[in-house]
Amino acid sequence: SGTLYVVATPIGNLADISERAIQTLTSVNWVAAEDTRHSKPLLQHFAINQSLISLHEHNEAARSEQLLQKLLAGENGALVSDAGTPLINDPGFVLVKRLREAGVRVVPIPGPSAVITALCAAGLPTDSFSYQGFLPAKSNKRKLRLQQLLADSATLVFYESPHRLLATLADMLELFGAEREIAVARELSKQYEQFVSGTLQEVHDFFKENSDKVRGEFVLMLKGADLEKDEVQSTEFDPMINAMLKQNLP
Ligand code: SAM
Repeated sequence: SGTLYVVATPIGNLADISERAIQTLTSVNWVAAEDTRHSKPLLQHFAINQSLISLHEHNEAARSEQLLQKLLAGENGALVSDAGTPLINDPGFVLVKRLREAGVRVVPIPGPSAVITALCAAGLPTDSFSYQGFLPAKSNKRKLRLQQLLADSATLVFYESPHRLLATLADMLELFGAEREIAVARELSKQYEQFVSGTLQEVHDFFKENSDKVRGEFVLMLKGADLEKDEVQSTEFDPMINAMLKQNLP
């Protein structure tokens, strides 16, 4: 059978595409894309003329079966998402799982992802980190999720949208305390790339006072719990938060 290549594409700076990504996208029989209207111009920029097939969260199960048949018939395909690495908060898991089960070869073509790009320049520990994706949109659920992470000693990495940034920072401040360190990466690899770091209080206040900077794409990195220092605090904290959250839940 053929091979599916899982191809990472740029997260903002088109020069970050890899030579191998271009070669692969050029030579396969088809490219499955999260949003074909978005990926068409990207491929055209690199003079790649490919037939695009949509694969998004609403059609992924059915589409995976069709793509499996094509691969079993000997075709080679590529999977891309709108930005960065497919499957990292983007579609592709259902497809890759199905292909693995069917014994089809799946080859990763590595490249940009916002999580690694943010971590490698933030100045927070990277020996152990925990990627959390997007937090829930509603404050009650967001606080519950954050509460489960209070005692985690790994650096915690979140994606966040600009219109929830301040609310999320406020919830983190409330649960993790003013002194916990955080780094916020904005617009990675783009013109207005920026890193803002300090205590939760400082970073929260910075974005509250600079609303012109609450724009674009964000990665939040929260330093893990210092277990020696925070242990007592977080066990005392738990029952209190629990009671508070129960009151707030619908
Ligand atoms: N697959 C992508 C990856 O590998 O990073 C992530 C896709 S997810 C739907 C989009 C989110 O990733 C954005 O809301 C933002 O939190 C983060 N992100 C993507 N590009 C970014 C950038 N250039 N700078 C900062 N964050 C970015």
